[in-house]
Amino acid sequence: PSIRHHHQSSHLMLQEGDLIQLEDQQEGEKTFQIQEALVDEKSLCYSAVDVENPIQLLTLHVGAHPSKLEPSWEDMSLWYQVQRQTKVLNILRQAGISSKYLPEIVASGKMLHPGSCVKQSPGEKCDHPWCGTPVLVTFPVGEPLSSIVAQDGPLSSEEATRCCRDCLAALRTAKMANIQHGDICPGNIVRVSNSRGSSSSFFYVPISWGRAVLEERDSPAMNLLFSSSHALQHGKLCPSSDVESLIYLLYFLCGGNMQQQDSIESALQWRQRSWAKRHIQRHLGEVSAILKAFADYVDTLCGTPYPVDYDSWLKRLDKAVNESTDKGKLVDEMAINMRIEDVAGSSGISEGGSLT
Ligand SMILES: [Zn+2]
Repeated sequence: PSIRHHHQSSHLMLQEGDLIQLEDQQEGEKTFQIQEALVDEKSLCYSAVDVENPIQLLTLHVGAHPSKLEPSWEDMSLWYQVQRQTKVLNILRQAGISSKYLPEIVASGKMLHPGSCVKQSPGEKCDHPWCGTPVLVTFPVGEPLSSIVAQDGPLSSEEATRCCRDCLAALRTAKMANIQHGDICPGNIVRVSNSRGSSSSFFYVPISWGRAVLEERDSPAMNLLFSSSHALQHGKLCPSSDVESLIYLLYFLCGGNMQQQDSIESALQWRQRSWAKRHIQRHLGEVSAILKAFADYVDTLCGTPYPVDYDSWLKRLDKAVNESTDKGKLVDEMAINMRIEDVAGSSGISEGGSLT
């Protein structure tokens, strides 16, 4: 509740049913209808549909109104969320890189508003509260792992392994465009429901690519719980920084105990102690052998200049995910067979399956 209140102060609040029209640089005017507010730790986004093509739910990010004379810290985080993220996702799109596990840009541009607009030139804005506000629309929509864990507790071994596989696949794909995420944490990974709707119907997508590191001078986000040691120490990423953060994420998702840190020094000490005592590996080992092995691998890589061997770990994680999916399918099929037998036994259906 405090988060929602916090945002009401300066964030543009939209209502269910609001029609948002924007001028997309590539596709011209597009209209989206707001479905509901999606509250996460840092920002307020909305689920929305494209009015002309309402087949799927999209995520609509609203930036800060450009009339603010003194940009606040909050506006800065909105700038990362909207304008910077638009830049990063456009780079991925222009490089022809797409993946089920990466958010995809649907539209971006300045908000248009109903009524007459009295701005003089395209770069200006009038007094209307929406005028000129930057908007980014992405696919898909999901629920952040931070709220899932807060509601339901730790993930199962299968889901944690799947989450690891999906995030690693996303990181590998982004790496092809020389992009590192720089802010892997539970609020920035969403769980998405597969449209197929089978029993194993989730996949995971790292969102919030606004803090991504594209070149030497870019600095990653500083998160005392989830940033890599290298990021905390040097304000820069090393090649394994994102996967190091992924290990802290998995540790958290699997119920690992993370104390709040109050300084960079204590955060670094926690990392050093945890790795030295193999605390993280041992905890992950209770959940899954493959996650423990992956943590051991990342331990050898932390802070070194060596690249992550995405391909061989994706192969191993794929195998682990598929084995548990097959097991899941088998259980499903048995359950269905038993239901059919129940029906046959109680409703006069003969062994041949026809009605008597
Ligand atoms: Zn206007």
